[in-house]
Amino acid sequence: MTGEVKKWIGFVGLILVFTVLTPAQSQNTILENNAASLKWNQINTGNFRIIFPKGFESKAQHVANMMEHAREPEAKSIGAPPRKISILLQNQTTISNGFVTVAPWRSEYFTMPSQDYNFLGTNDWLTLLSSHEYRHMVQFQHALRGFNRAVYYVFGQLGFGAMAFASAPLWFWEGDAVVAETAFTQSGRGRIPNFDMVFRMNLMEGRTFNYHKQYLRSYKHQIPSHYVLGYHMVSYLRRKTDNPEIWSSVSKRAWTNSFVPFTFSNAIKKESGLYVTELYNEMAEELKSKWKDDLDNTELSEFETVTQRSNSTYTDYKYAQSTHDGIIALKSGIGDIERFVLLKDGLETKVFTPGAG
Ligand SMILES: [Zn+2]
Repeated sequence: MTGEVKKWIGFVGLILVFTVLTPAQSQNTILENNAASLKWNQINTGNFRIIFPKGFESKAQHVANMMEHAREPEAKSIGAPPRKISILLQNQTTISNGFVTVAPWRSEYFTMPSQDYNFLGTNDWLTLLSSHEYRHMVQFQHALRGFNRAVYYVFGQLGFGAMAFASAPLWFWEGDAVVAETAFTQSGRGRIPNFDMVFRMNLMEGRTFNYHKQYLRSYKHQIPSHYVLGYHMVSYLRRKTDNPEIWSSVSKRAWTNSFVPFTFSNAIKKESGLYVTELYNEMAEELKSKWKDDLDNTELSEFETVTQRSNSTYTDYKYAQSTHDGIIALKSGIGDIERFVLLKDGLETKVFTPGAG
């Protein structure tokens, strides 16, 4: 068997795995959460069908307005508005999330607002969700071209979805959506210092890593998710080229020729003159010097170090609160199960593990 044949067998195998896994996941999401007695209503705006449990009308109206309002402007820098799509509002769960899928073509918003202020910022939850998920709808519409379109007609929605994902890295999908939510709302993760704090820390302490490690992450070093990498990759190239549509051109090229191996990095090279690894290095260099300047121009107030480092394993101490007995903080990290600890006179004692009763 030649290497080429093996590659294709692997590729077809990958598509089959996607085909089997994806519907199983999304069906579970629906079946486990909604009672059969739940009554559903819908709002049709012409471009969106908002489906929601009875009693949730005012929020559904908000989403419908938001989607129509964002429809033209938020699609402008990456193709055109998508074909009509159903948006299912799931309000019978405490999960805060959302997704867009092509099989069947729809989006679902889990409407319970996130309790994490570092995620929500000052946004209204449904506004943030609408802005972020809408960009994914536009991306999928933009991906339906060239070879991907042929796959769509022959293998259907799931085949198309697998090809669209295989020919653009996850950091692009999410980074581009985080750029959109930041540009089109008053808040968004691009404005929240906590979002790229770990990336900033790594760069400032000399751990730039290479592109592959930054993307695939590590069990040894704390490395932020592809959302952070993607946000900086996408926004850096837009700034550098002064072209808000640069990623539209890159992804158009990649999705048209999605059968070519490494199609996305080839497309970046064609459109920007940089290999993806060079783009990453340039982006990291720019941020490093910007953040160094910021630090040089910041006057630090006095502080006291209350945790003593005993090894080099990355550890977080979050939400520190001063009490009569010492400082209570939530400890977590690569080598730690999340738990509350009490810090006093350089000593650390476990208080309790959340969720352990
Ligand atoms: Zn997303």
